[in-house]
Amino acid sequence: MASDLSRVNPTLRLSLAAAMELGLARGFFARGARLHCVNLLQELPGGCRANCAFCGLGRQRLARRDSFIRVDWPRRAADEIIARLRAVQGRGVVQRVCLSMITHPQALDEAVALVERLRAEVAPPISVLVAPTVLGHDGLTRLRRAGAERVGVAIDCATPELFSRLRGPGVAGPHRWELYWDAYAWALAVFGPGLAGVHLIHGLGESERDLARAMQRARDMGGATHLFSFFPEAGSLLQDRPQPPLGGYRRAQLARWLIDGDLAVEADFAYDDQGRIVGFGVGAAVIEAALEGGQCFMTSGCPGQSVAVACNRPFANERPSQPLRNFPFAPTPDDLALCRAQLVDYA
Ligand code: SF4
Repeated sequence: MASDLSRVNPTLRLSLAAAMELGLARGFFARGARLHCVNLLQELPGGCRANCAFCGLGRQRLARRDSFIRVDWPRRAADEIIARLRAVQGRGVVQRVCLSMITHPQALDEAVALVERLRAEVAPPISVLVAPTVLGHDGLTRLRRAGAERVGVAIDCATPELFSRLRGPGVAGPHRWELYWDAYAWALAVFGPGLAGVHLIHGLGESERDLARAMQRARDMGGATHLFSFFPEAGSLLQDRPQPPLGGYRRAQLARWLIDGDLAVEADFAYDDQGRIVGFGVGAAVIEAALEGGQCFMTSGCPGQSVAVACNRPFANERPSQPLRNFPFAPTPDDLALCRAQLVDYA
């Protein structure tokens, strides 16, 4: 079926990193990082109808900003973005395109039309970060038929209480915890095992145990976790909340690596009285193998053709002047030594 281009908004937003990689914005990545996934964001009349406390797109944000996941998301013509994607394909750097839906009544129809157009005009596989609240019963099937290859579900909060407080009734928001997990289950059924993942954010008020349990749930259902570290989004309701300590984030990264690699199960983890991980329930040799090379500290997300993770989001969880949380490239030996020290930091 041909794309109904009348349903595609002429304007899209893309991450600043994607704009730089496509030559649509000036700048360069610190430490020579390159971006392997072009992240796009829907731009629809009136914007996102939800009100998540940590998101710069929330309808009740304290200040009008264009940032979302720490960085700016400039607006560009869809035609221009697609032309640049075509121009860079074949160079091997951009290995995936991801469309993030917003919570909006037109979001699904537009996403389906846009995926059809992208599938027809550009080569890299397409992920869709879906908005379960507006997906409807056949939304995932329509996205798959349109040509999407994978799906992400941004559950973000590790517990139902946090979800309700930060995304649901607590902020007069429309989202519901169980609907998000149901959407993940449907995505795995429609796209296939391993072809859907959940986004979880560390630092929203959950314990390391809460997070590890949510990651194990995602794994047991058949997919994997794409892990983020909370960053206080200017203009969001949580703009004054501090970032989580690096020690907890390193333990969360190692836990994710072990759980998603089927090397450990959360039920065997040991915790202190604050719910912090003090043991992963596996021998020292398994831990050493996991730490070797530092892959467990790299960004987790949808894969590329020649890179394990295309969606490497350089500097999306920290400023370039701050310690890297998700490494968009392999950590150096010095990076790795620092990560090992942070792993056992319980300050
Ligand atoms: S991990 Fe990246 S590419 Fe995959 S769904 Fe999430 S944002 Fe999109």
